[in-house]
Amino acid sequence: MTSSRKIALVTGASRGIGLAIAKQLAQDGFDIWLNYHSNHAAAKAAQQEVQALGAQCTLLPFDVADARAVQDTLNPLLATQTPYALVNNAGIRRDNLLIFMQDKEWTDVLATVLGGFHNVTKTVLAAMIHAKQGRIVNIASSAAHAPVPGQTNYSAAKAGIVGATRSLAAEVAKRNILVNAVSPGFIETEMLDGLPIDKILPLIPLHRLGKPQEVADLVSFLCSPKASYITGQAFQVNGGICM
Ligand code: NDP
Repeated sequence: MTSSRKIALVTGASRGIGLAIAKQLAQDGFDIWLNYHSNHAAAKAAQQEVQALGAQCTLLPFDVADARAVQDTLNPLLATQTPYALVNNAGIRRDNLLIFMQDKEWTDVLATVLGGFHNVTKTVLAAMIHAKQGRIVNIASSAAHAPVPGQTNYSAAKAGIVGATRSLAAEVAKRNILVNAVSPGFIETEMLDGLPIDKILPLIPLHRLGKPQEVADLVSFLCSPKASYITGQAFQVNGGICM
């Protein structure tokens, strides 16, 4: 069944922030291409939540770090359809002090965050350029802007995302493609499992964790007609923990 709605591709959208973004964009009128890695049960439940909002939702399981898997999954779809919005959200953290960090902890985070951005964006970009329109939102982190001991790998990857956002924005502005980054602070998702929340809360001026919806609302705005003169920026949604 074909649809006249615009399409949004959201990576890492089976849970957490990505799911909130997918649901908000569905409410905004997008059909969703919903990427995830391996949690099929969560993805199936996410698909039902998105469909309940009246959108079509295509599940796309692939590892964003695997360039071949990204291309093999997306290219057949891109032959006939072009997403208007791409949200590069998939990410992992593998925290450790640098002195103890395993090579794999370093490379896995960079491969997923930076490699994922590269693999997915490059695959979608040609079609977007051909369509002469598009929005790309890259989910970075407060760790891109402020020091976080134990996260040199994650900080490097997320700061890289902010830099790549600016450079890509400059490359594709003339093609009417707008590229921005959103940097969440501490948001209530499974990614925070194991962190000492009681020690973190006093550091947050608003004195609470953020909700995935509070990130999704900014992404929604950046993908909307109201954000037509905003590109190359990094916006923080963090309760004031980094100003
Ligand atoms: P979650 O751990 O709750 O969810 C991660 C999502 O990404 C899941 O859908 C997971 O799929 C998917 N994913 C993980 N690795 C891959 C991969 N290699 N390929 C494809 N999909 C993958 O994360 P959050 O919602 O908390 O985080 C979303 C983004 O926001 C990340 O980029 C994170 O770095 C960033 N962020 C989060 C913060 C927070 O406090 N939560 C703070 C700052 C930034 P599956 O279900 O199959 O595992």
